Amino acid sequence: MGDPKGFLKLKRLYSLYRPVCERVKDYAEVSVLRTDKLTEEQSSRCMDCGTPFCHWGCPIGNVIPEWNDLVFHKKWGKALELLHATNNLPEITGRLCPALCEAACVLGINDDPVTIRENELGIIEHAFKAGLIKPRPSKKRTGKKIAVIGSGPTGLAAADQLNKAGHEVTVFEKDDKIGGILRYGIPDFKLEKTIIDRRAKLLAKEGIKFKPGVEAGTDILTSKLKKDFDAICLAGGSRVPRDLKIDGRELDGIYFAMDFLIQANRCASGEKIAPDKIINAKGKKVVVIGGGDTGADCVGTSHRQGASCVVQIEVLPQPPECRTKEYPWPKYPLLLKTSSSHEEGGERHWAVLTKKFSGKNGHVTKLSCVRVEFNKDDKGCPVMQEVPRSEFAIETDMVILAVGFLHPEHNKLLKDLGVQFDHRGNVKTDASYATSAKGVFSAGDMRRGQSLIVWAISEGRRAAYSIDKYLMGTTRLPPG
Ligand SMILES: Cc1cc2nc3c(=O)[nH]c(=O)nc-3n(C[C@H](O)[C@H](O)[C@H](O)COP(=O)(O)OP(=O)(O)OC[C@H]3O[C@@H](n4cnc5c(N)ncnc54)[C@H](O)[C@@H]3O)c2cc1C
Ligand code: SF4
Repeated sequence: MGDPKGFLKLKRLYSLYRPVCERVKDYAEVSVLRTDKLTEEQSSRCMDCGTPFCHWGCPIGNVIPEWNDLVFHKKWGKALELLHATNNLPEITGRLCPALCEAACVLGINDDPVTIRENELGIIEHAFKAGLIKPRPSKKRTGKKIAVIGSGPTGLAAADQLNKAGHEVTVFEKDDKIGGILRYGIPDFKLEKTIIDRRAKLLAKEGIKFKPGVEAGTDILTSKLKKDFDAICLAGGSRVPRDLKIDGRELDGIYFAMDFLIQANRCASGEKIAPDKIINAKGKKVVVIGGGDTGADCVGTSHRQGASCVVQIEVLPQPPECRTKEYPWPKYPLLLKTSSSHEEGGERHWAVLTKKFSGKNGHVTKLSCVRVEFNKDDKGCPVMQEVPRSEFAIETDMVILAVGFLHPEHNKLLKDLGVQFDHRGNVKTDASYATSAKGVFSAGDMRRGQSLIVWAISEGRRAAYSIDKYLMGTTRLPPG
């Protein structure tokens, strides 16, 4: 424990962001990296609890109190070693994780929790800057070959672990660049793409082969994958969007969030889009349907493209601003989240049900809505009821649907492999991440449905553990 009285002396330092008037004009990251000195100071707020609930709260089991102590004592190299032992992509979780750990921080019971996520980011960014991170290719090679399908956080974590175990790993990615949703979903203002390139370069130097622009199952046939590789890890994500099947859905000007975000990411990286394919919010009255993170990314992107106004609506009621009895500590609470994109402008409305789209000359012009309330039926189950005479309409010329994802695409690869799906349409596995096809494993969103980056890393690591065991009979990789 760095300073036994650190939590009494210092208050939590909240994340710093660039000024709104400056950041909405560009796509550079909105958050400002803290200095090493501030990270050292903030790490002293960790109380090194006997039972570190933060460790329990983190899906990859980051050993948080230990690296907080090392940072306080300026032992950055040792802190890095500990961090990398459980997390393959701390520079990503350090920027984008909702910090499930902080919700479980003991200090959070009667004070603000430790800034665990930012301390994590501080360690990894210090390490890159100080040249502490060097490629460390495995000294022993097993001669076993593994194909990882998909280069999102799941695929990257699995590939890193399997390469460390000495296997020859090839990552196939159908997009033209590595990263999955990190690259073609999450906007640059939350994660600049040089961060992904830096990690991918390091992994390549350590021996992982990356094959971008290759769709497994079509560009490389499933039969060849089965012949050339000893095991396959399916990490293809979950991208089939949930639609909003209401009247007027066929009108022009209504887009799925990912179509909008992927294109915006491509534009931000300098790619040219064919004029008839452009989706742009400039000068438009944008309505984003869906109040989650994806919706928030659409709000921020719309601001940057110059939307004339942005309204975000959500069918669920507004979450509380602080813990309620439904979410006692140390559970991760469902609280009102105001992201950096929301701070940049626009309106948010909760408990609003969308009824129909109307349009003129085939283009959307209006969204009809009604307010709803949530009551309980005789059995105590929640029921949604329309509030009488609460109908209203929103004028719009661009609607973005950010209402979630159903399951992975049931594409040629999955069909040819003959893997089974669960009741939600995700790839079904047993507890060891093995699918119904021999030698084929699956992890991440493809297996559990759309989730979080930290869960993707956790799943990739767990699948790697099982694959190593499957190939070698035993494994020295950590189980998660
Ligand atoms: C807009 C948006 C914002 C988000 N923001 C956050 C956030 O701030 N914090 C957070 O924790 N989580 C966030 N998430 C969730 C998080 O990004 C995902 O849970 C995570 O990326 C899942 O990782 P994955 O590797 O399983 O899948 P993905 O990231 O989807 O990667 C799968 C990859 O597999 C490739 N692929 C699929 N099939 C094939 C094939 N046959 N051959 C070759 N390649 C294939 C795809 O092209 C893709 O690149 C966000 C999600 C979205 C959509
Ligand atoms: S990965 Fe997320 S949950 Fe785990 S320590 Fe980092 S911020 Fe916390």
